Amino acid sequence: MGYLEGFAVTLKKIAEGVTTRNYRAGRGGKSDLKAPKPERLHGRHVLNRYEDGMEKCIGCELCAGVCPAKCIYVRGADNPLDDPKSPGERYGYVYEINYLRCIHCDLCVEACPTEAITETKLFEFSFTNRDDAIYTKDELLVGDDGKPKNLPWEDWREGEDEHTSGWMRATAPAGKAAFEGVVGWSGELGYGVRAPEHGQSAGHAATGSFATGETPSDKSPSGDAGAEHDEHGGHH
Ligand code: SF4
Ligand code: SF4
Repeated sequence: MGYLEGFAVTLKKIAEGVTTRNYRAGRGGKSDLKAPKPERLHGRHVLNRYEDGMEKCIGCELCAGVCPAKCIYVRGADNPLDDPKSPGERYGYVYEINYLRCIHCDLCVEACPTEAITETKLFEFSFTNRDDAIYTKDELLVGDDGKPKNLPWEDWREGEDEHTSGWMRATAPAGKAAFEGVVGWSGELGYGVRAPEHGQSAGHAATGSFATGETPSDKSPSGDAGAEHDEHGGHH
């Protein structure tokens, strides 16, 4: 008779309704709500572009080397002189991520020297075969508006493609108070140079944030910080 007790538990749980309240909430999935996501959530990746449309990836393979799941495959190639894809000598000719293996640890993002690879807030995507789980440059490279491509099998909602780039991780002041609130990341297609994130510390409120497109040179508390930006952000 023990199995009847098991059925009783099942029936009791059915009567209780769903446990998840704000994610496709409601019985039978009738409601289509999603819970707001934390800004630093690690979702599927994007390959970013500079403001002029050039690709940030230089095909260096550091992301592939650091990936603990070995799910990134990159092949670099020399930029065609008459049609360069990136500002460097080389660009990411092949770029693939296998989402059957990715654990969204973000180490690839941390390793990338150009903020080319970052993660979106999207994790609502699934596949019906293994090939579809391998995203290529066609899927990963942001569109002409600088936003992630909204692929048909992904469940994007308004605003979910906004905070996808390197500015979020780059906001940390690297342990030096002089760098707090100082832009240390490059501009992006469709967004320009993003302002520092609010709420890092009480000190940030005093220094204020930079407007989109503004460089830190006017407000930087140290000349070195401005030099840092030029070094990392410029791609002339
Ligand atoms: S998030 Fe982690 S597991 Fe996924 S591709 Fe990047 S380094 Fe690899
Ligand atoms: S995404 Fe970044 S780390 Fe990976 S190959 Fe491109 S430039 Fe190098």
